[in-house]
Amino acid sequence: MSVESSMQKLDQLPPEMLEFTLLKTTGALAPRLGRLSLSGRKSILTPGFIGNTSRGVIPHVSQDNFRKGVDVNGVYVALEDCKCLVEKHPQTTPPIFSHDVPESLRDFIALPQDTLLVLGARRNPPIYSPVPNTNTEIGVLTSVGFKSISSEYYAAAARKLQPDIVVGLADIPFGQESVGIKRKDKMSDRTENWLRDIIAKRDSIEEGEKSWGIFAPLLPIDRDLQSWYLEHLVDEMVDKINGVAIYDAYLLDDLPDQLHHLPRLSFHAPASPHELLRQISLGMDIFTVPFLADATDAGIVLDFKFPALAKDDDSSTRRSLGLDMWSDSHACSVTPLSEGCGCYACTKHHRAYLQHLLAAKEMLGWVLIQMHNHATLSAFFTGVRASIEAGTFDADVAAFEAYYEPTLPEKTGQGPRVRGYQFRSEEHAKKEKKNPKAFRKYGEDEIVKLKAAHGQQPNSRPEMRDVIDDEALLGLVGMDDSEAHADPDVQIENLRIEDDAKA
Ligand SMILES: [Zn+2]
Repeated sequence: MSVESSMQKLDQLPPEMLEFTLLKTTGALAPRLGRLSLSGRKSILTPGFIGNTSRGVIPHVSQDNFRKGVDVNGVYVALEDCKCLVEKHPQTTPPIFSHDVPESLRDFIALPQDTLLVLGARRNPPIYSPVPNTNTEIGVLTSVGFKSISSEYYAAAARKLQPDIVVGLADIPFGQESVGIKRKDKMSDRTENWLRDIIAKRDSIEEGEKSWGIFAPLLPIDRDLQSWYLEHLVDEMVDKINGVAIYDAYLLDDLPDQLHHLPRLSFHAPASPHELLRQISLGMDIFTVPFLADATDAGIVLDFKFPALAKDDDSSTRRSLGLDMWSDSHACSVTPLSEGCGCYACTKHHRAYLQHLLAAKEMLGWVLIQMHNHATLSAFFTGVRASIEAGTFDADVAAFEAYYEPTLPEKTGQGPRVRGYQFRSEEHAKKEKKNPKAFRKYGEDEIVKLKAAHGQQPNSRPEMRDVIDDEALLGLVGMDDSEAHADPDVQIENLRIEDDAKA
C-alpha cells in the first residue's frame, strides 16, 4: 500500500481507532517500516521508541522540558510504578482513582495531549518479585513493596485510567532461571485468560467512554508451549487486539503469519544500540530503551550515529558509543557534548559545563544529559528508517558494528541517588549500602569536643546524656574539620575543670 492511499484510509477511520500501517516490509524476520497512529496523538514512525517513564515521567525530565526539548511521541507507564496508584491497594482507594476527569492517568502525570500513552503492569525491565503469580494475580513491586494485583483489578484500572494502549498481563516468572514445562503451560493458560479479561472489560465500556487498544503478550517460551494460546489469538481474538508485546525478540520467528500486520512492542530490553539493530533486523517495531536512562544516570553522554560515518583511517580501533562526563578531561572542553547534535544541551552548553554540573551534583547535569541522550536515540532511529527505506540496512548495520565498540562505556562516576526499584532483586540481598553514606556519626570523644566548641557543657548527669543528646547532635553530625571548632582542646580543658569544681 502506498503512503498516499494509506493516508486516505486514515482519514476514514473512526476516532479513537488505533491504526498501524506497514509502509514497507520485505517478509518475515526482516526490518520493516510502519506508522502507528491514533487520532489526536502524534504518529509514531517505526522502527521507533517511546519514553520509558518512572512515576509517569522520563527520569530527570519534567513535563515542561519534555514538551520543549524531547522529541518522543509516546511513553510507557507501568502501573506498579505509579505512586498513589497501587500503593495503598486494597486498603483504601488510591488518589488517582478518585481523580475524576477523562483520561485520568494522562491528567495525573501531566502528559501532553498529543503524546501516545501506553500502560503496562510492570516496569521495563521489571524487578524480580518474590510474590509468585497465581491464576488470577501477578506479583508487582510498588513504592511500598511487593504486592499482587489481580487481572480484574488491572482491567478496572485500565478502564478508569483510559490510556491509549494497554499491554495485557503476562504470566512470566521473571528471575527464575529454569522454568518447568508444567509452569510454562500455566504461563500461556493464564496469559490467555488475562487477555480475555481485558478484552471483555473493553467490550463492556459504555458508549461515549474512551476506548483503548490492546497489545497481546507473546511469551518468552517456545512456540509449541504457547501454541494453544497463539491459535486462540489467531482464531478468536485477532480482531480484538491492536498489537503484540514481545518479551523475547529471538522468538519473533514463532509469531503466526496472521499476526504480522500488528505493531510489535519490544519488552526485550536491549543492552546497546547493536542489540537494538539486531531486533530491528528481525522486524521489531517499537521499543522502550532502558539503557538510555541508565547511561544518563551514569553520566554517560551517548555519542553514536546511524549510519556510522565513513571510517577516516584503516585503524582497527573502534569508537566509543558514549562519553563519560565525569572525566576530568572534559573540564576545559568548550565543544558540544556531541558534534553536530542539534539538541538543547548541545546547542546551549558545552562539555566543561556538564562536567562541572555532575561534579557539583547539580540536578541540571542529568536533565541536560537525558535530553541529549533522547535526541541521540531519536536521530539514530531516523537514520535506521532512512536506511531501511533505501534498502541499505544490512550493510549499514555491518558498518556500524565495525565502527563502534560493542558495548556502552563502563559506568565510572557516581550517579544520582538510586531508589529501591532501580536495583535488581539479587542486589537486595547484598549487605552493603546502595548509596554511600553522606554523613557519619561521631565517636564519644569527638562529640565532647564538638559540644564544647558550641558552648555546651558536658552533662552532669551522664546517665541522662543519651536521652538528651540525640536531638542536639543532629545538627553536628558530619561537621568534620570545620573552623568553628578550631582548637577546642583549650575550651574543653577549661570546661572540665570548671565542671569538676562544681561537682
Ligand atoms: Zn545533544
